[in-house]
Amino acid sequence: MNINILTIFPEIFDILKSGVVTKPIKEKTLNIELLDIRQNSVNKHNHVDSKPYGGGEGMVMMAEPIVKTLKQINKKNLGRVIFMSPQGKKLNQKKIISLSKLKNMTIICGRYEGIDQRIIDKYVDEEISIGDFILSGGEFAALALIDSLSRFIPGVIGNVRSVEQDSLSQGLLKGPVFTRPENFNAELVPEILLSGDHQKIEEWRENQALVRTFERRPELLQNIKLTKKQKKLLEDLASKRIL
Ligand code: SAH
Repeated sequence: MNINILTIFPEIFDILKSGVVTKPIKEKTLNIELLDIRQNSVNKHNHVDSKPYGGGEGMVMMAEPIVKTLKQINKKNLGRVIFMSPQGKKLNQKKIISLSKLKNMTIICGRYEGIDQRIIDKYVDEEISIGDFILSGGEFAALALIDSLSRFIPGVIGNVRSVEQDSLSQGLLKGPVFTRPENFNAELVPEILLSGDHQKIEEWRENQALVRTFERRPELLQNIKLTKKQKKLLEDLASKRIL
């Protein structure tokens, strides 16, 4: 996968040199191209922003430096053009999985009050938000997107099944997890996990996932197809027959 990033702060992405994303970058399964918008500023003061027409607070990133930077990218490597924006569609795991299948992607990181609308209208394929809060720049949103995407690049997470079983990958939250020791300050690990009965353990995990989702994010349950058994468990939960 090739990701082009347009930013006025390329150094923020130095963080990709450490941590989970390092491996695919080293192994060349993920290529990150950083493009500094400021190198295409329109005047000798290196400005990439200007006051908003109509007045008001803040500054707006100008169209020309961004277009010039986009044109530096070879057309065949441009791929889907994404603008990180609090006005975009909210990112979720389903979206990450679909984006992870793309070969090329270009991410524009906004700053100040955002970018000139004409860029969005003419060059942007989609706007993506990472949540209903305002960041100071799209770089942090892009990093979150890239980190999450990279988990689907083969070899990043040792075990593909572990990514598939993550919370939300199946539409449900994952249940609780435990590790050594069995007895921690008199708190014991659920006995079933020590039973060695894989089928029972799997069933227990599925139930826990359902219970947790019901308790914390019931709205997620509307998007998945439940088995008869799961429906029954939910009915029991709803009527407080268990809990
Ligand atoms: N005044 C703008 C927000 C500007 S924040 C507005 O109300 O829409 C500056 C930049 O940070 C944005 O252009 C965007 O690129 C990025 N950004 C801020 N919040 C974000 C979010 N929740 N998701 C993705 N990008 C965000």
